[in-house]
Amino acid sequence: MSKVLFMNMPAHGHINPTLGLVEELVKRGEEVTYLTGEEFRDKIEKTGARFKSFKFYLDDKDEDTKTSASSVPFEVREAVKMLERVVKTCSSVFEAVFDGEEKYDYVIYDSMFIIGAEIGRALNIPTICSHTTLVNAFEAPSNPEGLENFMGEFEHVINSIREMEETYGIRFPDIISGYPVAEGMLNLVYTSRYFHPDVRGIDDSYKFIGMSLSDRKEKISFPFEKIADKKVIYISLGTIFNDGVEFYESCFEAFKDMDAKVVLSIGNRIDKSTFKSIPDNFIVLNYVPQLDVLKQTDIFITHGGPNSVNEALYNNVPMILVPQYADQFVVAQRVEELGAGINVEKDKVNAGILKQAVAKVMSDSSFKANSEKIGDSIRAAGGNVRGADEILEFVRSCLEE
Ligand code: UDP
Repeated sequence: MSKVLFMNMPAHGHINPTLGLVEELVKRGEEVTYLTGEEFRDKIEKTGARFKSFKFYLDDKDEDTKTSASSVPFEVREAVKMLERVVKTCSSVFEAVFDGEEKYDYVIYDSMFIIGAEIGRALNIPTICSHTTLVNAFEAPSNPEGLENFMGEFEHVINSIREMEETYGIRFPDIISGYPVAEGMLNLVYTSRYFHPDVRGIDDSYKFIGMSLSDRKEKISFPFEKIADKKVIYISLGTIFNDGVEFYESCFEAFKDMDAKVVLSIGNRIDKSTFKSIPDNFIVLNYVPQLDVLKQTDIFITHGGPNSVNEALYNNVPMILVPQYADQFVVAQRVEELGAGINVEKDKVNAGILKQAVAKVMSDSSFKANSEKIGDSIRAAGGNVRGADEILEFVRSCLEE
């Protein structure tokens, strides 16, 4: 039995795929401490892991930066603000990890958790990276050009970094020239090798474990009786960039007269009352039990979030993809490349285009067949059991060295 530190971003897309894996590790006798945002306490504790929180400042909207000069361009001020939040967040993580009494045998962290590897190095323990999205397949956001002319604006950020480095004996990754992506000595990717594009950097330390359907133990009520024995279209833009009211209105217009039930997840940023009228064949909710809804879905209209796509493929569901941001474009492109869906540009999307795309996917069975082919590869990859096997074998091999 080992003591494990699992560190993650407080975001559904980064946490959901890890829950079953953590449960499996706990089942094997590992003692897992899971460090993330307070709002995920309940979800984490249900896996049997011990919950610990850090304060995540990256979502703070209103706090202003110490950079006040109006001669500093807007983009630079925004970059300073963002880095101030990154530093404050990291400081909270360091306090949670280094100021406690606990000792850990190995650490697992998300690929966006940029200080994960460094924490592992400082603690002198094996590192494992949890990749909830495609590896090196997209450019991580970088800071604006010409930043070097305003380095003075970053002085307080750099000073805070140096202070933390001294206190905790760590080396901070370079966050000023861009947002680094983390790797581990072992890397777990929650999809199949077949679905993953060939990209630089993938070596034997990368294990494609696919996904398992694990019960997230979320208590979300949903009227399943209303979608039984009906054609079902499920629409979601995920949990982050999901306030596209116009997009939802286009969906109403496209499918209001269709002989199908349409489930629409609108996320927590907007309220259902925003809409003047909702067609009778729609079920509109802020959050739906997606894994269960997908079991009954004929077509999924999605933003191409890596987890949503994975979960759809696992259930052999063909897709219409309307990517909004970052990695979603690459994920959506891969789905189209393998024939399991159609891509639609977010700036061009309208009711007519959506209607056409749905008609095409419904009338051409190859979309469903290709989704099933990828789904087979994801189901065969071993999921949480394989993930736990890989972790335990890797940790054992580190001890033997
Ligand atoms: N999700 C859900 N119900 C919803 C919307 C989303 O259960 O109504 C879950 C979904 O199953 C997935 C995660 O939230 O596991 C979203 O992750 P994804 O990578 O698809 O997108 P993100 O939200 O990170 O943009």
